[in-house]
Amino acid sequence: MRLVFLGPPGAGKGTQSKIISNVLNIPHLSTGEILRDMSENNDYIGKELKNIMSKGMLVSDDMITSVVKKRILMQDCNKGFILDGFPRTLPQANSLESIMSEENLKISSVILVDVPEDELLKRITGRLLCNKCSKIYNKYSNPFPENGCGRKDCSKENIMVRSDDEEEAFKQVRLKKYYNETFPLIDYYKSKNLLKKFDGSGSAEKISKKIIDFINVIY
Ligand SMILES: [Zn+2]
Repeated sequence: MRLVFLGPPGAGKGTQSKIISNVLNIPHLSTGEILRDMSENNDYIGKELKNIMSKGMLVSDDMITSVVKKRILMQDCNKGFILDGFPRTLPQANSLESIMSEENLKISSVILVDVPEDELLKRITGRLLCNKCSKIYNKYSNPFPENGCGRKDCSKENIMVRSDDEEEAFKQVRLKKYYNETFPLIDYYKSKNLLKKFDGSGSAEKISKKIIDFINVIY
């Protein structure tokens, strides 16, 4: 079972891919972790990665592709793997296809964990913070309780609409980047009949159950 997980930031793709990796007992390969692990190796790629990452530079598509190739050919990926965060762009998707066909491997399915963009924006911009007890709420999904935080000295006056402008801006940039660069992969994998979409709006358990039911059918 070789799965690719896709989805906008904040939709739960990371959580779901970890759950499914445990259920299927195949490695969960997130791009960030692969890059960190490989940069510890004392070979050419490891040294290059360490150099690039220590300078805070972006790792090129070619570099990521060769690192992912190396990783998915390791022993523990014999029975399959879950890719989380790769491919992130169309060129990366094409590279993955080349790697896979060189090795006579096939992607079993591409799992899209999706939440509508306006919903994701609400999750980001609706954040509320109680400045007394530091509890976090959301204007839309988790409003400040009528009877307070549970602490008798917290009240509605303690609620700040924006808790962290910098974090909010960072999340908005990530979301925009996803729609510009990663979103086209949905049509790409649809045209290859590999895409299966799941609604990421409910609880994590409900969503993973639906994904597992689907995998049991194709397995
Ligand atoms: Zn409070």
